Amino acid sequence: MATITLNRSNYHHNLNQFALKTGSKDKIAIVLKDNAYGHGILEMAKLSSEFGLTKAVVRKVSEAKLIDVFFEDIIILGGKVEPHPNYSYVVNSLEQLKTLPKDAKIELKIDTGMHRNGIAMDEIDAALSIIKQKEINLNGIMSHYASADELGSEYFFQLQNFRVAKTKTLEAGFENARFHIDNSAGAMRCSEFEFDLVRLGVGAYGYNHMDSSFDDFQLKPVLYLYAKRVATRTLQKGQRAGYGGEFVAPKDMLVSTYDIGYGDGWRRGDAFNPFITADSGTILGRVSMDFILLEGDKEEACVMEGAMSAAQHFQTIAYEITSALHADISRKIVN
Ligand SMILES: *Cc1c(COP(=O)(O)O)cnc(C)c1O
Repeated sequence: MATITLNRSNYHHNLNQFALKTGSKDKIAIVLKDNAYGHGILEMAKLSSEFGLTKAVVRKVSEAKLIDVFFEDIIILGGKVEPHPNYSYVVNSLEQLKTLPKDAKIELKIDTGMHRNGIAMDEIDAALSIIKQKEINLNGIMSHYASADELGSEYFFQLQNFRVAKTKTLEAGFENARFHIDNSAGAMRCSEFEFDLVRLGVGAYGYNHMDSSFDDFQLKPVLYLYAKRVATRTLQKGQRAGYGGEFVAPKDMLVSTYDIGYGDGWRRGDAFNPFITADSGTILGRVSMDFILLEGDKEEACVMEGAMSAAQHFQTIAYEITSALHADISRKIVN
């Protein structure tokens, strides 16, 4: 089966860029949802902890349980609230607030303009009074940017709303609450980091999808994908290979199969617009469930060094490529 290697020094370099921008490692909550964007949740938790991070963000309690030995503080984006001293649950609506157990520790999400999750701006007062009345532990107030990575006024509009939410919360007497709205793009584009945390996802993994007019953060890819040779044969000129015979050998040539396919989460793509691997191999013909075909017979092919070129080729974003890679591909930390 294919192998993923995770580059420690590149990852720590990326984290360091954000620690410099926010002013402290303590202001980074590393987002490890969806198997750490496909990188491997346990490996990335370990590397984050090694760097000195103490806060993480996941989607589900089951993910929090996997990594809680590494972190003091875990924000859980969804699911049922199971009180735990180190877990803080994101609450998205007034109805959800009303059903919480007493002492639940929460991050209240405010809809500052993305209109996906969170309570409306005009529900903040009502929410704060329910929290007081039920003696819920309001650990944080949060929001999420819809388009911090694009030029435009939306970002400023959301930022302004979030400042209003912060003021209201402090005025209501919640002095211990923390405030966070920034994702990677928010932290990259602000001139001075203003809040208590960045919920850092894609930037930590080395991807900068920002409009090129913003300051260029120098990030490095963390994930490298390799596949091993399974079998080699000689094709005669004109012989066809793979499903549908969509590859036709233009000459007599040596070809090998390698052990990755769409069953591992690699893209099937279009045989007539082939992906070029990081080591300059052209994927020949159709991608099978478990195999690809490349010219030559080297033992190992480097399919990707980071997912930027695959994202461009398949017209998507890097983390759709990485998060699709199956959890049972072996992960190895290098360097
Ligand atoms: C996924 C997620 C993030 C991380 O966003 P990136 O753009 O990957 O940095 C931050 N906050 C919330 C609520 C998220 O769901």
